[in-house]
Amino acid sequence: MSMVSDICPVCGMGTMSEVPTVEYHKMFFHFCSEQCLKTFLDHPGLYSSKVGRKRSKILKRRTMTLAEPLDDEIRELITSSLLQMMGVEEVIAEERRVGVTYDLLQITEEQIEKTLAEVGARLGGSWLERLRRSWVHDSEEIELDNLAAPPAPRRNRPPPGV
Ligand SMILES: [Zn+2]
Repeated sequence: MSMVSDICPVCGMGTMSEVPTVEYHKMFFHFCSEQCLKTFLDHPGLYSSKVGRKRSKILKRRTMTLAEPLDDEIRELITSSLLQMMGVEEVIAEERRVGVTYDLLQITEEQIEKTLAEVGARLGGSWLERLRRSWVHDSEEIELDNLAAPPAPRRNRPPPGV
C-alpha cells in the first residue's frame, strides 16, 4: 500500500487527475498542473520531503525589459497569463517593463519568460539585459540545486589573508 496525497507537492493546491502521476522513492505524487509537474521533475528532492509540512516561499521580485513598448491589449494579456501561472503573486506591466513577484519554489524567471514569448512579448535584446537574464537563470538554478541537495560537508576555512 502506498500513500497517495491529493495535495500538489509544489504549490499545496488540490490535484488534477489529468496531470500524470510521478513515482519517486516509492511515493506517488499528484499535481495541480503541468507547470508544477515540470517544477517537481526538475528538483524532486526539494518537494518530495515537503509533503504535509508547512510551506515556505522564496519570493523574487524581478523586472524584465521588453524590446518594444506594450499596448493596452498585450499588457492585459501578459498580466492575466502570468497571474494564471502557479507561484506568480504580482505583475506590473508598463511601457517596456514587466515586473513580476514570484515564489522561486514554484516558478523560475525562465518559465515566466517562456509565457511572455508565448503571448507575443519580445524580450529586450541589449547585451546588458541578455546578461541579466542568463545570470538570473543560472543563479536560480544554483539556488534550487543547493536547496534540493543535502547540506555539503563543511570546508576548512581558508588561510588568513585569502
Ligand atoms: Zn501545484
